[in-house]
Amino acid sequence: MKGLKDFIVRHFSFERSLTRRVNLIMLISAIAGNIVGAFESLFIDLPIFAKILPIAAVVILIILLIIGFNTKKTRVLNFISIFITTSVIFPLMFFANGGFQSGMPFYLLVSSVFIVVGLKGIPRLILFVIDLTEIVLLCSIYFNHSELFPVIDPGVQAFDISSSLVFSFLIMFFFAFFVKKQHEYDSKKIKEFSELYKKQANTDELTGLYNRRYFKEFLKIAISTFGDTGKLHLAMFDIDDFKIINDKFGHLYGDEVLKKFSNILVDESFDSIFACRYGGEEFLILIPKRTAEEALEVVERILQKTRDTIKYEENHSVTVSAGFITYSKDMSYEKLLQTVDANLYKAKFSGKNKVAW
Ligand code: GH3
Ligand code: MG
Ligand code: MG
Repeated sequence: MKGLKDFIVRHFSFERSLTRRVNLIMLISAIAGNIVGAFESLFIDLPIFAKILPIAAVVILIILLIIGFNTKKTRVLNFISIFITTSVIFPLMFFANGGFQSGMPFYLLVSSVFIVVGLKGIPRLILFVIDLTEIVLLCSIYFNHSELFPVIDPGVQAFDISSSLVFSFLIMFFFAFFVKKQHEYDSKKIKEFSELYKKQANTDELTGLYNRRYFKEFLKIAISTFGDTGKLHLAMFDIDDFKIINDKFGHLYGDEVLKKFSNILVDESFDSIFACRYGGEEFLILIPKRTAEEALEVVERILQKTRDTIKYEENHSVTVSAGFITYSKDMSYEKLLQTVDANLYKAKFSGKNKVAW
């Protein structure tokens, strides 16, 4: 049971190409149809050719199916399988079973589905032309030389036409169903990928914070929303002596410090604060809807929490310096960043572990 499940998953999962699966299913359904046809012909008065044909078809189709399960040359095999089924077996059966006295016209109709779903490009065009030409020829021969076709008993005709109609209906239904399901699956995957890509494009992998790229966009929105209120502030942080921490304890330890610091930024960020990793060990937060004093308190709290919680060795704390600025009307994006950077430099220059504005 498990072996069968693995087999189905291996050959029929959505990850496999749709054309390959369609081809295999076409072969399986054609084999099933021909086995039924072979049994049927035992009880019906048909020429010997018509009795042998379904058996020969089953043998050929089984060989194609076995190759189909094992080959990697899907495109070649699909072409051969669909050609043999729709351009050779079906037209021959149309002759053998009595043309329009049989259910074969329905299968000729189903051929179009096999060609569309199972093939691509030039091979599809070739089979389209071959099969359409054959169908037109078969119709013409039937109507002009009906003596070439065996005469079928009306009772047998009714049964063959009805069963073929049901079988063709089922084949068309399931093929359309497969295509629809595949489309739904592909659309879902594309949506998931584009969301993942969007997230990756906007966030920093190590810390999960927004990155510089997204910050620029967000700042523009923040300026247009809060720029006039005098309550939009920007703080830039830079971890002190980070190079020494890296040199002393290794890069991985440095990464941990970055993650811990970004957690502090997130913890201190209620909805109204936007935090981003601006570069290596530099971070930015945007604080709208607060007075300068309130915003500075937030920055001080971040500095304090860093000292208190990120420790290395016994009594050494990781510290961070910050530059602070309140957005004033008509300040350009560049000017805002230059000034906050200059303020950060002031904090560094006057002894680090503090905020300057
Ligand atoms: P200052 O107190 O003046 O800021 O000195 P500093 O050593 O922190 O500053 P500097 O700019 O000289 O060094 C920053 C270091 O940050 C250098 C770089 O190797 C390290 N760095 C940048 N990105 C990462 C990262 O993703 N992980 C780790 N572990 N280190 C990083
Ligand atoms: Mg730096
Ligand atoms: Mg630094």
